[in-house]
Amino acid sequence: MPELPEVEVTRRRIAPLLVGRRIARVHTTADSYFFLTPPDALARGLEGREIRALERRGKYLVAQLGDGQRLMLHLGMSGQLFADGARSLRLLSATSRASLAPDEQPGFEPDAHTHLRLTFADAGAEVLFRDVRKFGKVRLLEPGESDPRLDRLGIDALEASGDDLHAGSRGRRVAIKNLLLQQSLIAGIGNIYADEGLFLAGIRPTRAARRLTRPDCARLVEGVQRVLRRSIDTGGSSISDFVSPDGDDGAYQDERRVYARTGEPCPQCATPIRRIVLAQRGTHYCPTCQR
Ligand SMILES: [Zn+2]
Repeated sequence: MPELPEVEVTRRRIAPLLVGRRIARVHTTADSYFFLTPPDALARGLEGREIRALERRGKYLVAQLGDGQRLMLHLGMSGQLFADGARSLRLLSATSRASLAPDEQPGFEPDAHTHLRLTFADAGAEVLFRDVRKFGKVRLLEPGESDPRLDRLGIDALEASGDDLHAGSRGRRVAIKNLLLQQSLIAGIGNIYADEGLFLAGIRPTRAARRLTRPDCARLVEGVQRVLRRSIDTGGSSISDFVSPDGDDGAYQDERRVYARTGEPCPQCATPIRRIVLAQRGTHYCPTCQR
């Protein structure tokens, strides 16, 4: 699932292909729950508009359009936002992949999963939003209009401080990992980064949020930001379906310390990494280093 680093990597790579360009045509698939704004209204609203900026809020991308409208995009579980010409074997079906020589990586042709395709007045590269599992979302917001998905987000994880976490966790009996995943206090922390950040901070995922001291909170926010920034620097994590816009796979997955390393030795003390389920999510920690 694309998490904050993948969304930020996507934003940085796709922004130069969107900002300053005027949308000429909008091609969509048939109406479905992918479209919070119905396809025909989306096309009417977008055609002729210039994109002024591409911002990220938590795991959402928000394109600022010239007349005060905003286009909200969410990559969902498997969404891929990229320019035409992206090359990646992951975009091909298993059958067509098998028929290829290893050095053959053809360009991408829009398919039934390409729910949104933007062409531009300058006739340059098209931008495509593909989502096989269709948990992604797209919504056009009129000037002044908001969306509850954006409204309920807390401080962005890259901008939060230990004091923000400390203040927001007072009186909270919920496990600290669950609080991190809720998005309402700090936005953008997903399962991998929660597990990794808790490991770096030496805090057990099940500890009640209210039991964290101010120094705990400072270490935890610092740990989470460290793994997020490192993941952004390495192009995002690509454990499942994430494909960065230019088709490169992220490299962060090789640096995981505890996430999905059940039974492997802890990198600090060699105790086997333990896995439990918390908030319906696989949760990985070292029972010795994390208290
Ligand atoms: Zn350990």
